[in-house]
Amino acid sequence: MNYNIALVKGDGIGPEIVEGAVEVLKKVGEKYGHQFIFTEYLAGGCAYDKYGKPLPEETVEGCKNSDSVLLGAVGGPKWDNVPSDLRPEKALLGLRAALGLYTNLRPAKIYPALMGACTLRPDIVERGFDLVIVRELTGGIYFGERGRREGRYGEEAYDTEAYSVMEIERIARVAFETARKRRKNLISIDKANVLETSRLWRQTVNRIAEEYQDVEVSHMYVDNAAMQLVREPSRFDVAVTSNMFGDILSDEASQITGSIGLLPSASLGDSKCGMYEPIHGSAPDIAGTGKANPMATILSAAMMLRYSFDLSEEADCIENAVNAVLEEGFRTADIVGNSGAEPLSCKEMTAKIIERL
Ligand code: NAD
Repeated sequence: MNYNIALVKGDGIGPEIVEGAVEVLKKVGEKYGHQFIFTEYLAGGCAYDKYGKPLPEETVEGCKNSDSVLLGAVGGPKWDNVPSDLRPEKALLGLRAALGLYTNLRPAKIYPALMGACTLRPDIVERGFDLVIVRELTGGIYFGERGRREGRYGEEAYDTEAYSVMEIERIARVAFETARKRRKNLISIDKANVLETSRLWRQTVNRIAEEYQDVEVSHMYVDNAAMQLVREPSRFDVAVTSNMFGDILSDEASQITGSIGLLPSASLGDSKCGMYEPIHGSAPDIAGTGKANPMATILSAAMMLRYSFDLSEEADCIENAVNAVLEEGFRTADIVGNSGAEPLSCKEMTAKIIERL
């Protein structure tokens, strides 16, 4: 099969880590008889420098016409003072909107070889955890009506949260489908004791649950979920939640794995074309030094194979190779900890992973 992949390398370490993932995909293509055709597009600070805007039309069109998008990261101090609507990060929102990506999938799991890097107590870590947060990405308070007005105590600001039944239904279905492919357990996270949107959320999730009798569903208030993630992360399989709660909880979940350079993500919509990217940023402090860990981007490419191209065996092959390299003790600088290993560069780590595919 042929697959057209749009590459948006972005800024900082973006180009280095995306190159690593491209090398891995090429090797997987050779091994399994697929052809991945890559086309590069600019977005972020580099696009601002060239076109005066972070998301040129050509990039939007190119991504829309591809089978999927692999993105590095955007932003950096160089663009700190550009007008807010032209900031590099605006490119991400623009791409999500243009591609209709309303779901963000963020897996967070502990690698046995990296247990020492986890910030939780050893007895909690030893039980292991492997969870996915399904975050609604295009609705809720980040997109609601906002403004400033004269209030009872003078000037005030307001942001509003609104969710339609349709928006909740579609994200709930993604979450149930995801749970179905895993351990069949779904926790829906809300604040139904206070918020009306959460009450509609809970009611809708319960209705959709009737279509998924094989998945066990329960509900948790967001404040409790924040506690349970650090107290007993092993109890989570799939968790579904709104845009803002998901933003916060998915960062918390990634932090407890102890390794930002290892965590991939997928943004999905109704079409097969998704956007896959590491959860970290452009790391301007290490850009160009060769110290970047390419694993999060390589694992994002594995998610692309699994979710957009239905190539699970090929995705497993990449994930197993990453696991094998970690088990053998190879480390990049960010995860070297007190292991005593000699840190590998981005290129060297990529080569190790390719050897094990
Ligand atoms: P960051 O994630 O870029 O970096 C945080 C720390 O983690 C840094 O010390 C960095 O060196 C390290 N790090 C990150 N990724 C790494 C990797 N793959 N290997 C090794 N070390 C890694 O976050 P930040 O410093 O807050 O943000 C830098 C820029 O990135 C900002 O302009 C921010 O807006 C942008 N950003 C972009 C995205 C995105 O493109 N999706 C996400 C977050 C931040």
